[in-house]
Amino acid sequence: MTKLRIGVLGIQGAYTRHVDILSLVGAVPVIVKYVEQLEDLDGLIIPGGESSTMTKVMGFRIAYDDILQFGKSKPIFGTCAGLILLGKGISDSRIHQLELIDVCVSRNAYGSQKDSFVDDITLHFDIEKPYHAVFIRAPQIVSVGDSIRVLAEHDNIPVLVESRLHLGASFHPELTKDMRIHRYFIQKIMEVKNGKESNSA
Ligand code: GLN
Repeated sequence: MTKLRIGVLGIQGAYTRHVDILSLVGAVPVIVKYVEQLEDLDGLIIPGGESSTMTKVMGFRIAYDDILQFGKSKPIFGTCAGLILLGKGISDSRIHQLELIDVCVSRNAYGSQKDSFVDDITLHFDIEKPYHAVFIRAPQIVSVGDSIRVLAEHDNIPVLVESRLHLGASFHPELTKDMRIHRYFIQKIMEVKNGKESNSA
């Protein structure tokens, strides 16, 4: 079976650990810095980092419109700052959101760097074993649209969500050895690919 090629946006932030995990789960990781690299990818991860800085550097070699175009048909997984960029509803001119996933987030709502924490959550798609989620200056999901499925909560607040195509986490799934969430993303990409293949058949 051909391996999936999954990009990790590498313009700012915590992208290297995603690259390591993608290799471990059997995908071909591609650090994406230029628009041309999007062409032959099956999916994309927008990592954590600093959403205002990402907004600033976006547009030099890869633009919002390029990612928007990609996200119309291919899955994107936004983690932490990446979720902020995928979501909507922030009224701060330093942050440009893609609005690809129908969730509103509040930046840094769990506190500053020193309030970062690790806590167990339950993944609804694999409830047997708790998942240690790492929250670092995390955004809080304050509302989710009707089309959104919540895949995990922390203190009754959604922290892992999905739409038909996309996935978003307010924590850092690349910072634990538990690869279930990256595997879930891969499965989602496969489903989208297979759906497309059967549509076009
Ligand atoms: N607080 C950051 C922001 O607002 C996100 C932090 C992170 O990605 N770990 O962009």
